[in-house]
Amino acid sequence: MNHFDYRGGVLCCEGVSLEAIAEAVGTPVYVYSSATLERHYEVFKQAFAPRDTLVAFAVKANANIAVINTLARKGAGADTVSQGEIERALVAGVPPERIIFSGVGKTEDELAFAVKTGVHQINVESIAELETLSQIAASLNAKPSIAIRVNPDVGAGGHEKITTGKGDTKFGVSIDQALQYYGRAHSDPHLHARGLAVHIGSQIKDLGPLEEAFKAMRGMAERLRAAGLSIDRLDLGGGLGVPYFNEPDPPTPAEYAAMVNRVFDGLDIGLAFEPGRMIAGNAGVLLSRVIRLQERPTRPIVVLDAGMNDLIRPAIYDAYHGIKPVREPKGGAETAYDVVGPICETGDLFTRNRALPPLEAGDLVAFMTAGAYGATMSSTYNARALVAEVLVRGDKYEIVRKRWELKDQLALEQIPSWE
Ligand SMILES: *Cc1c(COP(=O)(O)O)cnc(C)c1O
Repeated sequence: MNHFDYRGGVLCCEGVSLEAIAEAVGTPVYVYSSATLERHYEVFKQAFAPRDTLVAFAVKANANIAVINTLARKGAGADTVSQGEIERALVAGVPPERIIFSGVGKTEDELAFAVKTGVHQINVESIAELETLSQIAASLNAKPSIAIRVNPDVGAGGHEKITTGKGDTKFGVSIDQALQYYGRAHSDPHLHARGLAVHIGSQIKDLGPLEEAFKAMRGMAERLRAAGLSIDRLDLGGGLGVPYFNEPDPPTPAEYAAMVNRVFDGLDIGLAFEPGRMIAGNAGVLLSRVIRLQERPTRPIVVLDAGMNDLIRPAIYDAYHGIKPVREPKGGAETAYDVVGPICETGDLFTRNRALPPLEAGDLVAFMTAGAYGATMSSTYNARALVAEVLVRGDKYEIVRKRWELKDQLALEQIPSWE
């Protein structure tokens, strides 16, 4: 479900024509729908009712403060993986008590920042991190709430590079280690041991592995309680997939919640979730203009003004994005194209042999489902401007990230003063 539809022959985001945005702001540009963001958050949150849950949006999926703010106003928290993301969440209006701090490589400075900020929970990923955090907490005379990140050795996710729950990925500690470290944290006067956390992968389309991981979490919580240790939180991570193309749809939030409710039935414990893609994916498109067509013996190439620096998912994850012409196609024969960007890399190829309505230089196209892991992974490679972002609400839109032009980038560089 999203709010990008043809109206009067032109693809619109809510009540705003994408053609109008392209004219006014230029391309390439990301365009997000407030209504879609809000709807996805509400549908996810309500799916667990009456159980109260903390739904912490994974900021790395879309770190724009306007996007985070839209969700924060609805009550969302933030799952963060760096001090920068914590700061973004705070600036966007997420209260500290709804911020979760995760990640394998938190520095001492970042941990101290999180403790001083008073975040909801720090998810600890190793015994070394636990010891460091304990010392930092002692020196700050604080007692941060912590969870231990478990790696349940269950693999899942849409691609090898987005699987995090197998035993040999870099994330979390084994079940046995987690139980041991939890006991250690529990007896530490400077730490408030609250729970366990898990996140097994991204773009997950099968509830089976998630259910397996969640059952393991329940079993661990029960073992800890049986051993006399208090535990009042489980953080079940993110990872729910979104439909990128015409293949079986991923489970709905309702199906996901039904599974969660079944697994945790009768267990009195607070649940938190960290959805990223599921909230933001379908809420955004990348709008791009066709620079030119290039004939080839095999099939024509469409060269766009967006490149892999603006949307890297196809290059690194073989990801598929639907491509829609902004002018509604009239029907009729389609043409098979390779769609590429202007970057000097063979990998700068969005799709091969894709049947699309005939395109011409100057036409606008939208990459669908680009609201997650799109702009956050963009770069200035090939000395390009950093892509702009726009947020739509009803019939209004605003630029929420200006294009970062070359002259502003150059202002940070200098030629050394030596001869
Ligand atoms: C990336 C990440 C998420 C979000 O994953 P999605 O697939 O976007 O839902 C949640 N939690 C952690 C710890 C992550 O690293």
